Amino acid sequence: EEWCKSMPKVELHAHLNGSIRDSTLLELTKGLSRKGVINSSEMEHIIKKYNRSLNEVFKLFDLIHILTTDHNTVTRITKEVIEDFASENVVYLELRTTPKKNDSVGMSKRSYVEAVLKGLRSVTSVDVGFIPHCDDSKRIFTPLPAINGHVRKRIFVRLLLSIDRRETTEAAIETVKLALEMRQFGVVGIDLSGNPSIGDWTTYLPALKFAREQGLCVTLHCGEVPNSKEIKNMLDFRPQRVGHACYFEDEHWRQLKSSKIPVEICLTSNVRTMTVPSIDVHHFVDLYKAKHPLVLCTDDSGVFSTSLSDEYKFAADAFGLGRREMFELSRNAVEYIFADSRVKEDLRKVFNSVAKNME
Ligand code: 5GP
Repeated sequence: EEWCKSMPKVELHAHLNGSIRDSTLLELTKGLSRKGVINSSEMEHIIKKYNRSLNEVFKLFDLIHILTTDHNTVTRITKEVIEDFASENVVYLELRTTPKKNDSVGMSKRSYVEAVLKGLRSVTSVDVGFIPHCDDSKRIFTPLPAINGHVRKRIFVRLLLSIDRRETTEAAIETVKLALEMRQFGVVGIDLSGNPSIGDWTTYLPALKFAREQGLCVTLHCGEVPNSKEIKNMLDFRPQRVGHACYFEDEHWRQLKSSKIPVEICLTSNVRTMTVPSIDVHHFVDLYKAKHPLVLCTDDSGVFSTSLSDEYKFAADAFGLGRREMFELSRNAVEYIFADSRVKEDLRKVFNSVAKNME
C-alpha cells in the first residue's frame, strides 16, 4: 500500500454532497431519468469531470441536490462517504452538510440530519465512533482481535452543520438550534459555506454569534473570492478554523498569523476552481514555512475526483516534502479537531503508535 494511503489521516473539511462516489451519482441519475425527472445524458455530461469555475461548481451542486435530497439517499451517501474515508485510513472525519428543507418529500432540516445520523449508524464494514461522552465509543475503540490477519478499521466521525450563503438569518439560526439539539449525537460545530459571491456576512453573524455563545465551534469559508472587507470581518470574529484563505492580502496574512487560526487547505479544489493561479504559488508554502497551523483536506472528493491520500501525495510532490514531514503534518491536524479532549487523546495514541514503528 502506498504511504499516503496507509498513513493515518484526519479530514476536517469534507462536504457530504461533494463527496459522493461517481458510481452512486450515476446510478441516482439513471433512476431519476427513468422517472422522467431529469435528462440522464445531460446530467452525465455535467457530472463528467473537467475544471470548473467556482460558479459552475455551485451549479453542479444544485443538480446533485436534486438527486440526493430525499431521506434514503441522504442515509446512503452518508454511509458510503464514511466507508470511503475509513478505507483510506482516515481515523477522524469531521463531515459537514447543509440541513435542507424539501417539502415535496416531507423533509425538514431536522429529518435531514436524522437521515445523516441513520447513515452513520448503518456503517458495518468499519467501526464508527460517533457518540461523544459515552462509554460506547470507549468500548468500540479498545483494540479488537484481528480477523484473518486484518484489524478492522476504525474511524471517529463528528458532524458540522453548514449554513448556505443563500439562506436567511432565521434559517441560519434554525440550523444552529438544530446543531445544539444534536450535540449528543456528535454535532460539534457550524460551517458557513455556499457560493461566496452571494450574500452578505452580516446576515449570518447573529447565528454564528449564537453558536459561539452556546459553545459550538465555528469554521468559515473565507477568502474564496476577493472581498477584503469580508475577510477582515471574518478574521475579527475569530472562528476556530477557516477554510481556503485564497484571496488574502498582506494585512489578512498578518492578522491570520497573529491569531493562529488553523487553515483548512484544499489543494485540488483550489487548483480546479482556479482560486489559486497554480499549485507552485499556493499559500500552503508560506503558511507551512511559517509553521502556521494547517490541515490538508479534500473539500469535495467526488466533485474534484480526489481523496485525502491524493491530497497528501499532491502536497508531497508539489512542495518537495518527505514522508516523515507529511506524517507530522497529518499528526498535527489532531490538535485542530472540534471533538472533545478524549477523542484527541485517543487520536494522539494512534499517531504515536505509528510513529514508533517508523523509527
Ligand atoms: P452539502 O452541504 O449539500 O452536503 O454539500 C454541498 C454544499 O457544500 C454546496 O451546496 C455548498 O453550499 C457547499 N460547498 C461545497 N464545496 C464548496 C466550496 O468549495 N466552497 C464553498 N463556499 N461551499 C462549498
